[in-house]
Amino acid sequence: MTLSNTAPTAELQALDAAHHMHPFTANGALGAKGARIITRAKGVRLTDSDGAELIDGMAGLWCVNIGYGREELAEAAARQMRELPYYNTFFQTSHVPALTLAAKLAELAPGDLNHVFFACSGSEANDTNIRMVRQYWALKGQPARRTIIARHNGYHGSTMGGGSLGGMAGMHAQGGLPIPGIVHIDQPYWWGEGGEMTPEAFGLARARQLEEKILELGAENVAAFIAEPVQGAGGVIIPPDSYWPEIQRIVDKYGILLIADEVITGFGRLGHWFGSQSYGIRPHIMTIAKGLSSGYQPIGGSIVCDEVAHTIAQDEFNHGYTYSGHPVAAAVALENLRILEEEGIIARVRAEAAPYLAQAWGALADHPLVGEAVSRGMMASLALTPDKASRARFAAEAGTVGYIAREYSFGNNLVMRHVGDRLIIAPPLVISTDDMDALVARARKTLDQTHAHLQREGML
Ligand code: PMP
Repeated sequence: MTLSNTAPTAELQALDAAHHMHPFTANGALGAKGARIITRAKGVRLTDSDGAELIDGMAGLWCVNIGYGREELAEAAARQMRELPYYNTFFQTSHVPALTLAAKLAELAPGDLNHVFFACSGSEANDTNIRMVRQYWALKGQPARRTIIARHNGYHGSTMGGGSLGGMAGMHAQGGLPIPGIVHIDQPYWWGEGGEMTPEAFGLARARQLEEKILELGAENVAAFIAEPVQGAGGVIIPPDSYWPEIQRIVDKYGILLIADEVITGFGRLGHWFGSQSYGIRPHIMTIAKGLSSGYQPIGGSIVCDEVAHTIAQDEFNHGYTYSGHPVAAAVALENLRILEEEGIIARVRAEAAPYLAQAWGALADHPLVGEAVSRGMMASLALTPDKASRARFAAEAGTVGYIAREYSFGNNLVMRHVGDRLIIAPPLVISTDDMDALVARARKTLDQTHAHLQREGML
């Protein structure tokens, strides 16, 4: 069977429905409807098999930071494939792409985060982290320190480990998650859960749940706390400013390891190389993936501080992936980092793109369906509500209205995603101000259509 980008859509959809199991999808329903088939992309725009052009408000899955179609990355991959398409880094060997990328990441990462363990994805990297922090404490003579504290509605991947660290109820309901030794505290989601508290007071209260959990478990049993600087898949939940300083105080006080999951927030999304820098967080380990290669190749990893890496180095760490530090992926990542750096893309996010998005997106707050319109860097969200003042939820099951809006958005050739009744975007970092205007105009049209739909159906 040959690959055809030009076959009729219906034919491609039929093959897809017959043989392709999509992630996070009710495949029966999708098969009946037919998937939208994306055939090519350039800059911030996707083209589908019917020739329609969409603005990709999600940068793929939060990953195409430099935009689509950069020839330099294709060249880097082709060059590396010709020279050394594969070799491993097990058994006392190394290769130039992996060691160069590790050194580059050590240079870019803050503080003494100087060591990199490669994986192929964020999920795998978080599985590495679970094993690494437990092994660290075992080597420190404190093997009881095994429990990892994470958060409800956090997302850390879809493997047994990653899905367990995540706090997604829908995932925990399937397949026997979470694995033992992982517990969850509540998220700092003020709009949804803050009630009458001020955001500041609420942020402190949610951070202090970490201290309460540590005391409940006994600090001598706690290995680490893991969190995303800004929750992405949970709905672009931006924590109150009081949250992270209090978390940092608590992890410092009890001497537990802090893992910042930077899979989304790394590589410029919040206007710094890493989200930890945006929030002044000092993690011992950062999980990376996605923007590391702008999604052009599957690659992830853990950037690890001196203390943890030196301790782990005392013994054999019985862990690794065939494709850890894959040379083609590493070469592509290096080229992506070069572009991010030399083209000043992250500085532009900070100085121009993020402030522009904040204003343009923030203006959606005047819409009758919008409870909050917030952004941080180049990730943004809307909370949909039937009543702004009381921050009410819809009578319909959570996610019903979000899904309706998402469908209109797709119809308007804008890729937005819905998480429950929140609409979220995270466009390529290189998006122009004109394209941000176009994106927001399509989002407003989507809201108008959704509003009319809800009125028509008596759902408001
Ligand atoms: N951590 C975070 C914060 C993520 O957003 C994701 C993916 N959305 C992951 C981990 C998992 O990454 P992957 O899908 O590459 O396994």
